[in-house]
Amino acid sequence: MSKKLRKIKITVKGRNTSDGAGVRLRRMIGTAELDNLNPFLLLDEFKSDNKDDYIAGFPTHPHRGFETVTYMLAGVMKHGDSTGASGILKPGGAQWMTAGRGILHSEMPQQEDGLLWGFQLWVNLPAKSKMREPRYQDIEPQQIPEVTTQSGAKVRVVAGIVDETEGPVRDIETNPLYIDVTLAPSSSFTQNIDPEHVAFAYVFDGAVVIDGQVVEAGNLAVFDKGDFVRISAGEISGRFLLLSAMALDEPVVRYGPFVMSTQQELETAFEDYRNGKIGAV
Ligand code: FE
Repeated sequence: MSKKLRKIKITVKGRNTSDGAGVRLRRMIGTAELDNLNPFLLLDEFKSDNKDDYIAGFPTHPHRGFETVTYMLAGVMKHGDSTGASGILKPGGAQWMTAGRGILHSEMPQQEDGLLWGFQLWVNLPAKSKMREPRYQDIEPQQIPEVTTQSGAKVRVVAGIVDETEGPVRDIETNPLYIDVTLAPSSSFTQNIDPEHVAFAYVFDGAVVIDGQVVEAGNLAVFDKGDFVRISAGEISGRFLLLSAMALDEPVVRYGPFVMSTQQELETAFEDYRNGKIGAV
């Protein structure tokens, strides 16, 4: 049986917003236009060289029922959480935090000026795993392998497998692919994607061509069903995140920092937070 190319289902532009203590960012998933792409619940890009846009950071706040993923391109953030984990997120580094039944964490910029640029992604947990033990995977920049494909694409593999190279983030229930791909002009990149997965590309520099359509920086393309994707660069280079994960066909009941399966579970999450039961060791 021949393999099927995944075409573009929709593209979205996202919208400017703020979160945490007032960090300015661009939200691509988790908007009225693209409410969720279950299991992907939210994708934010923060990018600014004006400290007023980011200095207030993301002070201590709770999460329950899903996973938060940060990937840094520029700048430095310090994180700490109620599991006792703490560390410094550097350019090219990542963290994959499985909130499970509850975690309190903070992410604060460790710079007074210069560019802060990165991404925050929320990935849902299957209903049966929402109350699992919290877990934290801290990934240093040098732990993320860079693969140069035969077609000349440079690929940093955070999670999943590219050309037999596996990324350092492991044991995630939705079995994600999370890669950062740089394409030189006139080059291309092809990647097999599990047919059961939801997949998208977010272009954050230059432009690429997918399915005959030019997708410029600041745009996200959601892929249709199929077995593989093909992304090319035209006259200019392009850089993008390519993500996929197991589709979760389950109800999503979310508010603020909690993502559960029922209204009752959501109310319990707020009650537990008020009673100090989230993040308690
Ligand atoms: Fe958070």
